[in-house]
Amino acid sequence: MNEKKILFVVLDGGGDLPVSELDNLTPVEAASTPVLDNLSAKGLCGLMDVLKPGMVPGSDTAHLALLGYDPFDKYIYSGRGPVEAAGIGLVVHPGDIAFRANFATLKNGIIIDRRAGRINKRTDELAKLINGREIDGIKILFKEGTEHRGALILRGPGLSADVTSNDPKVEGWPPRPFEASSIEGKRTADVLNKLVNQLARKLPLLAANEERREQGKNEANYLLVRGAGEAMLLPAFGGKQGIKPVCIAGGGLYKGVATLTGMKVLDVPEATGGIDSDFHIKVKRSLKCLDDDSYNFVFLHIKATDNAGHDGKPLIKKNIFERIDSALEPILEYKDIVIALSPDHSTPCSLKDHSCDPVPCFITAPGRRTDSAKKFGERFAMQGSLTGIRGKHFMNLVFGLANRNKKFGS
Ligand code: ZN
Ligand code: ZN
Repeated sequence: MNEKKILFVVLDGGGDLPVSELDNLTPVEAASTPVLDNLSAKGLCGLMDVLKPGMVPGSDTAHLALLGYDPFDKYIYSGRGPVEAAGIGLVVHPGDIAFRANFATLKNGIIIDRRAGRINKRTDELAKLINGREIDGIKILFKEGTEHRGALILRGPGLSADVTSNDPKVEGWPPRPFEASSIEGKRTADVLNKLVNQLARKLPLLAANEERREQGKNEANYLLVRGAGEAMLLPAFGGKQGIKPVCIAGGGLYKGVATLTGMKVLDVPEATGGIDSDFHIKVKRSLKCLDDDSYNFVFLHIKATDNAGHDGKPLIKKNIFERIDSALEPILEYKDIVIALSPDHSTPCSLKDHSCDPVPCFITAPGRRTDSAKKFGERFAMQGSLTGIRGKHFMNLVFGLANRNKKFGS
């Protein structure tokens, strides 16, 4: 059978709830989206629970599910750390224990600023102090991310992700000691406690912090660590279906998921992971990849919809959908590919956070069925045939409609 190329678009946090400013429509229902409507009308649509009905997805677990992995399997996912570390550009090995980290400001034993004044200069100097250290035979790797953020990896024998965080989560409290949450986590907690204590002595001595003190800024003199997870060797994405995948994304988390699942991640400077991201360029690069025989699957991630949801800005979210729709127009020329689109979860503007509300999705495959949903949006999707679908089945269906799944049985 003729195997099709696939474009998979994730509109992060794209699902929403009716809002009064938009006459009780959701942002995407209120938006003018002729391209998304056209693709929905030609394909199969539905409202999807990405994890389980009633469960509120994180972006990391939701993406794993959408790509066909089971995030409830502890050999697939045990915490956010490895995804963040891979997204920041650290090379993660199976068995590594990885964490998200924040530079923070400690004064008289109290965390007075969890983000060290959102420090955005000379964090490479701070990272250099941490990266390459060794404690009790455990190798420490560290890389700075944007502003106060970074990722930490512990590598060596006898480690476990069963360890608590030192982040008190609120300012005005002392950092907590790391503790083992099971017997296996003891060594990891010991190494982390030694590490943060060493750093608390050495970070203030760095020139970067001296400069901050002179400027009256909060210094980055402490490291908060959270999101412990053990890195797993994940089966290559689409390995059985002959998939050669490429990812175009701005945000580190999505690049991280892509890296861990074996995708090639393209460097696209215009993909900022924010509201200012250049959707036209991202779509153009995606189509260029589909024209190139090195790839047959493009994962295009757009984050701006989630940002508008967290900010509680329905009019901005509606406008973002319209910008995305206009950027997607050239894909209508690609008549022989499978186009799948879904949010990873809802981020309703009224809640300013992720919610359990299922998301509108569609799969448009040449020569296959259509259904009664004629437009893209939460209520329109209910007229579709995919209602009841779960995230973990979505990609298998995409592969099936791209003629990439083999017969089961004879
Ligand atoms: Zn998300
Ligand atoms: Zn979010």
